[in-house]
Amino acid sequence: MRYDVAVIGGGPSGAVAAAEVSRAGFSTILIERNLDNVKPCGGAIPLGLIEEFGIPSELVEKKLSHMRARSPKGRVIDMRMPNGYVGMVRREKFDAWLRSEAQKAGSVITEGLVKNVTHSGDGFVITTLNDKIPPVQARRVIGADGANSKTADDLEFPPNDLKVIAMQQRFRYTPEIEKFRDIVEIWFDGEVSPDFYGWIFPKADHLAIGTGTEDNHHNLKKLQKRFIEKIGIIEKPYLDEAAKIPMKPRKSFTQEKAILVGDAAGLVTPANGEGIFFAMRSGKIGATAMIEHFNKKAPLANYEKEFRKLYAPIFFGLEVLQSVYYRNDRLRESFVAICADDDVQRITFDSYLYKKMVPAPWKTQMKIFSKNIYHLIKGS
Ligand SMILES: Cc1cc2nc3c(=O)[nH]c(=O)nc-3n(C[C@H](O)[C@H](O)[C@H](O)COP(=O)(O)OP(=O)(O)OC[C@H]3O[C@@H](n4cnc5c(N)ncnc54)[C@H](O)[C@@H]3O)c2cc1C
Repeated sequence: MRYDVAVIGGGPSGAVAAAEVSRAGFSTILIERNLDNVKPCGGAIPLGLIEEFGIPSELVEKKLSHMRARSPKGRVIDMRMPNGYVGMVRREKFDAWLRSEAQKAGSVITEGLVKNVTHSGDGFVITTLNDKIPPVQARRVIGADGANSKTADDLEFPPNDLKVIAMQQRFRYTPEIEKFRDIVEIWFDGEVSPDFYGWIFPKADHLAIGTGTEDNHHNLKKLQKRFIEKIGIIEKPYLDEAAKIPMKPRKSFTQEKAILVGDAAGLVTPANGEGIFFAMRSGKIGATAMIEHFNKKAPLANYEKEFRKLYAPIFFGLEVLQSVYYRNDRLRESFVAICADDDVQRITFDSYLYKKMVPAPWKTQMKIFSKNIYHLIKGS
């Protein structure tokens, strides 16, 4: 059978894209290398995503509105989100649910490691390792196969540039780490990460603790070990996981007959490493463009235009923030100090929860600007 669309990769971006295209009546196959995949991920998602995609409450293990930022010198800023929360999901369950939604919408879900994606006539032929599934013919392709996308390589998309390597360990709750059960902690500390941050995310029955770095000179395992020591945990983790986080959109992620979505396109925001929201939004926007392409011969490039129109300012703002404040401990100290400001917290949480940048009143902007300058000069 020749499908209208083959989606390669069954994480959040691929599952959402497949569901949308199927719902519009186009035959869709989703090929995932491992249907039991446990994607290394903190699983923190904003309220806006939960509402938009109707994520069932049993998948959201924690709803956390209390966050804590910790500076290199150990200064601690407690922050509360009055209008929402960060949801904590476990990717093995979350991804499986999203794929089941795609299946309900009519997508064929198959398991196979995609080995080659090649142009053939007006479409593509996709083959899998050991021909686990017979070669798949499709008119169009959606590459949703993550940071090391095989689809992108085979179809010669521009490279996925800036990649943080991140590592995470899972610890079962013990009395000594009970105190982290209902709070998100973020550590801005050069000993934990020289250019990113360390996180402590509570789940229903474990803590997920991790760190990341862009810098090849740093040994990630050593950074993680130091982080665990600094927190004061002596128990052993029950799971270690690591993966790349592509925090820069590819120069282009659309072609005439194929698009990339999610991590495959490099759609993770700098500074906070948030990728699930952008994976699902890009899956949805990409699928909408694909449907218009079939129905009205609209170019697939509309997807990239729309995504950039909506989110380029957020990517830009966070890239500036990371490049200014994550460079050394003095700057990180200033950054945490600024987080103490109520208006900074409100603006940060409002834009995190719904990805809407609402400009603050002029007086507030001036106050925040002055505080930035003050803390940058003072170094705290
Ligand atoms: C340690 C860590 C912590 C993170 N924490 C967070 C967080 O708390 N919140 C957040 O928003 N983001 C977080 N991220 C980023 C987030 O995990 C990703 O941005 C998100 O998973 C992207 O979704 P995706 O569907 O595009 O790609 P993925 O989730 O990577 O899915 C790609 C899928 O493609 C499959 N695949 C790959 N190659 C092939 C192939 N050749 N053939 C068939 N299938 C293939 C894979 O098995 C996988 O299922 C974190 C990332 C890391 C590494």
